[in-house]
Amino acid sequence: MALYQKYRPQLFADLVGQDHVSRTLLEAIRQNRLTHAYLFAGPRGTGKTTTARLLAKAINCRGNDDSDEAASVTNGEPCNQCSSCDEIVKGRALDVLEIDAASHTGVDDVRELIENARFAPAKLRKKVYIIDEVHMLSKSAFNALLKTLEEPPPHVVFILATTEAHKLPETIISRTQRYDFRRVSISDIVTKLEKIAQSEGITIEEEALNMIARAAEGGHRDAEGLLEQVSSYARDIKVKDVQEVLGIAEQSGVLDLVWAIFNNSAEEGLKIAHRFFDNGTDIATVHRNAIEVIRKVLLYSATSHHFIADTEENIKWIEKAGSVVSQERLVAILRHFLGNLKLHNEVSNPLLPLEISIIESTHQQPVGKHSPTVAQTASAVTKPDSSREKTGKSTTITSKETPTTYLSEKTSKSVSQGGEANKSEPFLTKDAGDQISHIWSQVLAITKQNNSTLAALLRDTKPLSINNNEILLGVRFQFHKDKISDSKNRAVLENTIKQIMGKEFTITCELADIRAAKEGSASDDELQQAVNDVFEVL
Ligand SMILES: [Zn+2]
Repeated sequence: MALYQKYRPQLFADLVGQDHVSRTLLEAIRQNRLTHAYLFAGPRGTGKTTTARLLAKAINCRGNDDSDEAASVTNGEPCNQCSSCDEIVKGRALDVLEIDAASHTGVDDVRELIENARFAPAKLRKKVYIIDEVHMLSKSAFNALLKTLEEPPPHVVFILATTEAHKLPETIISRTQRYDFRRVSISDIVTKLEKIAQSEGITIEEEALNMIARAAEGGHRDAEGLLEQVSSYARDIKVKDVQEVLGIAEQSGVLDLVWAIFNNSAEEGLKIAHRFFDNGTDIATVHRNAIEVIRKVLLYSATSHHFIADTEENIKWIEKAGSVVSQERLVAILRHFLGNLKLHNEVSNPLLPLEISIIESTHQQPVGKHSPTVAQTASAVTKPDSSREKTGKSTTITSKETPTTYLSEKTSKSVSQGGEANKSEPFLTKDAGDQISHIWSQVLAITKQNNSTLAALLRDTKPLSINNNEILLGVRFQFHKDKISDSKNRAVLENTIKQIMGKEFTITCELADIRAAKEGSASDDELQQAVNDVFEVL
């Protein structure tokens, strides 16, 4: 017997993820307020047919007889012991008719079956019609159903189930009591799978369970079917077993793909996509997994409570990725990927939707308001000639130069296999301003936790450019410049940057008016205030 059938809930209390449905139905059974037609709407595998059978049992259960005593014993649940329950569980009850409209379209006997509703039940108290995928009934069957619902015989209960309630005519819907079944949460599915695995003597890694639950997309039937499939293959189930059976894209390959996109390398991204295809991996799954990865990077960078559940290794990757791509860009990339996802059902070439997503995501136009590029900022802050003269030695940055952000060589290698050759090429040149300010905000946050003196010194600074191994830091006051340049402070700062960037950078300070919006140089008052800020924490 299939796991899904074997572990099909036999009590309302065992229904997982549809509490709102089971609570209302149980209450109605207890109070004997049953109606003659129910509509169960919702995605596949969420328990509609299971609930319909539970209801058929509860309606006919001898334990739920009119006597108050019996009702209080079962509390509305079917007893699963009386002859009625037994027959229904075994599928032998003549008075419970299950019709799958999807496989009976256009067949007249369905119409006849429905018309037979007028005859009294053979044995049970009520005749129960369970019509699955009711929206697919033939026209004649629909008319028969409608006619019966208009004048329902007192001994009949119709339970109509559908995944597409919007396809039902209002005349039918209005004559039913409607229940909407929800997709079951991943954690609910995992809990149920754990129970089944335990009873079946299957051991399975937690991440493997999560993987099955995610692949099932909120449906019990699929989840339990998948568990069965994987367990016939291995009794001690590991992540790689699930990946193999599901054809789930290798996680590291998906990370490489996403990284190539963050890195604006359409060519590398397409190469990885084609490699997946050549290996026979399901491309729609790769597409979905990529969305999941990008989503996690976005959530991670957008929230201070990092509530993403993933392996430690992946979290590290996500953290790093989140520090180099702006949230605006992540949202834009997600939009491209989501927008093209549905194309998988529409085009015959499975690669095309992913290819479009990669190309769109690597040809970013600025989305909405962007912070100025570093070049613009730099030229703006070098405006006051006085500050430039005072500092003497400094790098001149003109607006024509585009400073580039470099990532650690380790990560760059994972994107391009010929990492050595690419080492000197610019990395992530687009949105460089966004990225630098994002990285800098991380530097400030970490410094604030570890070294409040240094954090106070950094308050009036701004990175002007980042190149291969040097960060040029604009500093507003000579006092701050001296303090930050002090070897001890500089070492702390450079170490923090190394933690974030995965690579060593030298800090060079330059006096600059970094209040881009305000004109003029710092007043004495402001200087005094800045000095006080530092001494406060010393
Ligand atoms: Zn019973």
